[in-house]
Amino acid sequence: MTTTSSPRSSVTADELDDLRADVRGFLRDEIDGGRIVPDVDSWMTGFDPGFSSRLGRRGWVGMTVPTEYGGHGRTPVERFVVTEELLAHGAPVAAHWIADRQMAPGILANGTDEQKRRYLPGIAAGTIFFAIGMSEPDAGSDLAAVRTRAVDNGDTWTISGTKVWTTGAHLAHAMVLLARTDGVPDDRHKGLSQLVVDLPHPDIEIRPIRSIDGQAHFNEVIFHDAVVDKSALLGERGRGWAQVMGELAFERSGPERYLSTMPLLRAWAGQLRAHGATPEQRTTLGTLTAVAWALRGMSLQVADELSAGGKPDVLAAMVKDLGSTFEGDLVNAIRSSSGTIARRDGGTPIERLLAQSVLHTPAFTLRGGTNEILRGIVARGLGIR
Ligand SMILES: Cc1cc2nc3c(=O)[nH]c(=O)nc-3n(C[C@H](O)[C@H](O)[C@H](O)COP(=O)(O)OP(=O)(O)OC[C@H]3O[C@@H](n4cnc5c(N)ncnc54)[C@H](O)[C@@H]3O)c2cc1C
Repeated sequence: MTTTSSPRSSVTADELDDLRADVRGFLRDEIDGGRIVPDVDSWMTGFDPGFSSRLGRRGWVGMTVPTEYGGHGRTPVERFVVTEELLAHGAPVAAHWIADRQMAPGILANGTDEQKRRYLPGIAAGTIFFAIGMSEPDAGSDLAAVRTRAVDNGDTWTISGTKVWTTGAHLAHAMVLLARTDGVPDDRHKGLSQLVVDLPHPDIEIRPIRSIDGQAHFNEVIFHDAVVDKSALLGERGRGWAQVMGELAFERSGPERYLSTMPLLRAWAGQLRAHGATPEQRTTLGTLTAVAWALRGMSLQVADELSAGGKPDVLAAMVKDLGSTFEGDLVNAIRSSSGTIARRDGGTPIERLLAQSVLHTPAFTLRGGTNEILRGIVARGLGIR
């Protein structure tokens, strides 16, 4: 683990290979020891605080956070190597995922020194978890229509309104909330601010929403005039829209946008290796692998541009659109090419992975902004009217 306080400017290919080998060895031990079970969509529903803190102890959470805030001062490409191995192995990373992926960069970019010292060391230890409070019943794709309001009382804010689809709010230690602090909803992008709200809170009601597979990983969150300290404001009052847009490139472009169902592909490849493959199956496996490799290149390009201070919004939207479509295509291709029957209970590991994949696929193109909306961003970015 490096002790420098700023990201190292360059990492050699050998160092990256060593890091990858370390992560693979660790995951093999975890799986062989029965401590974790590989699953699809593990970054959204694989909530395992024990695993998150074991990763934290290895220095594999908060990797790019500076050491002065408890992080590890590693480069985005090192973080990329670790996260792609975790996802490809279907490791249960959901507990710390949101905090590590977008709240740590958001707090680093916009937070006060007090907020950085309060939240970042716990994020990097894999022990502080966050939820994203953006979507509302009438403000999903049209996010600027949020009605949740935070009223300034001088020393405190009083928050009222409802958020929905809030992943992990029932388990999170805090939520970053997008709320209207000034003006009226017609002001659209003006008058919105972000607040860091600690959870649980006596006046914040968190109701589970059950998804098609029976799990309850997201929620409706109702603020009943919840009072929080003035210091909860994240960044500049009224700049919430710009801050949220900065976060979305992190949210949309990472390897989780094309690797959610990779554990299924790996399981199928293992089965073909053990039992032999028909020419058609070889072609399917090769095609899926080639597409995943191309998406990986695009995702790495976004990571490079983000770390150079760029704003790769269009490429991030393309990664999310193409990647999340691929995640579902992969499931259909394996289902028809392998002849596997999806079984949720009592089946073989690949039958269970297929069942979970089928049930999770409808969410892939919705979460993080629907693909229709992303295509609009791409079209506008390319100057198409
Ligand atoms: C698994 C999952 C986890 C989630 N986790 C979170 C979370 O933690 N925090 C959070 O804040 N949100 C979360 N979300 C919410 C997610 O961001 C929203 O579902 C998404 O932004 C779409 O909003 P909506 O559901 O209100 O759909 P709507 O905006 O009502 O859209 C409905 C349909 O209309 C289409 N549509 C809407 N407007 C346009 C347009 N202008 N042009 C073309 N088509 C359009 C959409 O593409 C979509 O197909 C999660 C969603 C899912 C599925």
